[in-house]
Amino acid sequence: EVQGVTKRFAFGAEQITALSDASLRIGKGEFICLIGPSGCGKSTLLRMVAGFETATAGSLLMWGKPIAGPGPDRGMVFQDYGLFPWLTVAQNVGFGPAARGRPKAEVAATAKRFVDMVGLTRFADAYPHQLSGGMQQRVAIARVLANDAEVVLMDEPFGALDAMTRERLQEELLEVWARAKLTVLFVTHAIEEAIFLSDRIVVMSPGPGRIVADEQVMLPRPRDPTSPEFNALRR
Ligand code: ATP
Ligand code: MG
Repeated sequence: EVQGVTKRFAFGAEQITALSDASLRIGKGEFICLIGPSGCGKSTLLRMVAGFETATAGSLLMWGKPIAGPGPDRGMVFQDYGLFPWLTVAQNVGFGPAARGRPKAEVAATAKRFVDMVGLTRFADAYPHQLSGGMQQRVAIARVLANDAEVVLMDEPFGALDAMTRERLQEELLEVWARAKLTVLFVTHAIEEAIFLSDRIVVMSPGPGRIVADEQVMLPRPRDPTSPEFNALRR
């Protein structure tokens, strides 16, 4: 729950208002797309929900409790991937479970499952610098999903991908969302992507950082990705 949140950054002698009195209520299990032009404050809003930034005014709550910093209940896929360059693909993906002290065999099995899911089986032992941008982005997605976060924050995660990979990952993301009952806040510039992924679209506008629309969308397609109707739509 985002309640009247304003965020200002010091910028030399001036201040930049990145978000202005933004309010948003996200229900458990919702998949919300956040769209708006460059610089309108989308990443700032996500970073505050993730706990990387604090609000200048207003409050952010998760299931009623104030958000007081990052936590394993929230995972973020960054606009610039944010992989650990010194770890392999499998180690990046298994990082969260390993950091939480899960047994080695379980960490390896979890990492393998999500590395396979994003189609990087052959590259499990490669390092991030050996991968293309889109491949690194897939590792970042796998890492968040492997960490079993309840709330997943995705900042234009498919922006750098080719259309075919993007479509495949969109469908896979919807399947994981439905199966794992995730709550997803997904930033995109692409309105078609927002309409495909989500039945609720929040629009932000610069000047500065306001939420100007929050609409339920009537989807022209079946919503449940596990249904035969949805599968019939697959290309
Ligand atoms: P894009 O679509 O290009 O990713 P965005 O909607 O994600 O844009 P933000 O990154 O949230 O935009 O930035 C919103 C505003 O806040 C911009 O004017 C930016 O310059 C400013 N801003 C963001 N982070 C900082 C920071 N750490 N210090 C100063 N200003 C910042
Ligand atoms: Mg951004």
